[in-house]
Amino acid sequence: MSFASLGLNENLVQAINECGYTEPTPIQQQAIPLVLKGGDLLAGAQTGTGKTAGFGLPMLQRLSETKARPLANGRAPVRALVLTPTRELAAQVEENLRAYAKHTGLRTLVMFGGVSINPQMKALGRKVDVVVATPGRLLDHVSQRSIDLSRVEMLVLDEADRMLDMGFIRDIRRVLALLPKQRQNLLFSATFSDEIKTLAEDLLHQPEHIEVARRNATAETIAQRFFEVDKGRKRALLSYHIGHHNWRQVLVFTRTKHGANRLAEQLGKDGLPAMAIHGNKSQGARTKALSEFKNGGIRVLVATDIAARGIDISELPHVVNYELPHVAEDYVHRIGRTGRAGSDGEALSLVSAEEKPLLKAIEKLIKQTAELEQVPGFEPDPNAPKTPLEPRGGNRGRNGGGQQRSGGQRSGQRTGGNRSGGNAQRSGGQRSGNRSGNGDGQRTGAPRRRSRPQAEHSS
Ligand code: AMP
Repeated sequence: MSFASLGLNENLVQAINECGYTEPTPIQQQAIPLVLKGGDLLAGAQTGTGKTAGFGLPMLQRLSETKARPLANGRAPVRALVLTPTRELAAQVEENLRAYAKHTGLRTLVMFGGVSINPQMKALGRKVDVVVATPGRLLDHVSQRSIDLSRVEMLVLDEADRMLDMGFIRDIRRVLALLPKQRQNLLFSATFSDEIKTLAEDLLHQPEHIEVARRNATAETIAQRFFEVDKGRKRALLSYHIGHHNWRQVLVFTRTKHGANRLAEQLGKDGLPAMAIHGNKSQGARTKALSEFKNGGIRVLVATDIAARGIDISELPHVVNYELPHVAEDYVHRIGRTGRAGSDGEALSLVSAEEKPLLKAIEKLIKQTAELEQVPGFEPDPNAPKTPLEPRGGNRGRNGGGQQRSGGQRSGQRTGGNRSGGNAQRSGGQRSGNRSGNGDGQRTGAPRRRSRPQAEHSS
């Protein structure tokens, strides 16, 4: 099947060719014709399936087919808005949309917190057709009156489940209130909790439903292996695997930010250049870690679940679950970082005795029994003391947890170190939520009803 046969025009097909795509992915085959028709869409798909092109290509085509009326001030309006949970995903989505829009004359802009707001404000002074944003920074622009959302024709909620998990529901609803009633809505989510269903019911008008096979059940290109090892021997076993197999590029997952920092540091001492990426790192540090990892400057990137969402590194050969996630679905997201776009990948999990219940939950989800292997020299000691796992989302009260409420003040005060780099001061009359965002633009002033625990936290 060709992209042109899905109804895409020459400009877009040319851009797709330049991206090197030859065949539409299953989500693209389903989503493109539906979005082109103009209706609302509820899509079950996660990052790695090609969903960005699934919504982005028909969106760009629809926008390029009509001309927008200028705003009252004579400026060109923002016509499409894509909301994402994390900066990384926002950056990646916008990068892809920019590539797809290359021959359309449409302009895209990304905006997220943790960096100065000024360049974004300046960019908004020019024509921008599509904005990709994290909710917190978007609302900063709204309060600074640097963006007018009253002419948005298309709205995409990307990784909607993760946005709700991160406590963005109130921000999302605030944004929705600023949009015109008449618009096309596309909601992408990997999971469908009751909260997501409620949001979908409120947001979508007679939506089409599509779902692509989850990678967990179908990703034959990913070899999953599980190694039994004592907790205290995990680092040695990880170093062994990296060294023994001479892996040049491996993404390693920990449950906590603190654990990610500590592991990256220890691996460095073992002679394996590593960096950590998580929500407490500044945007500059995250970008640097990611680009060093992509260009081979470091061999190991240690990440927490939230930071890793949306990381797209093509043909990433190895993913290691240094610690199993509290939430089984995060296992699927993690291993989805490898074996992408048809290339082979390997996902290794290091399983300590304490983590057996987490493994059970993963087995249930992926409908496979994990065959536990042992590496000679790293066999678990049956008499080793078992230490309990840290609580789910534990230590929220600690400074740096990033997503805890900070005392309930509603003073407009900001405490997020990562956000302070920007000139995002509020002027009078702006929103007064106390924000202590952890750099992903998460809001912390709102009480959150969570259907899933926060996988990333300080402990
Ligand atoms: P996404 O799920 O949108 O994050 O896409 C995952 C990756 O697949 C990105 O690197 C895309 O550039 C790539 N991709 C998307 N569509 C295709 C396609 N039809 N053929 C090959 N690669 C694709």
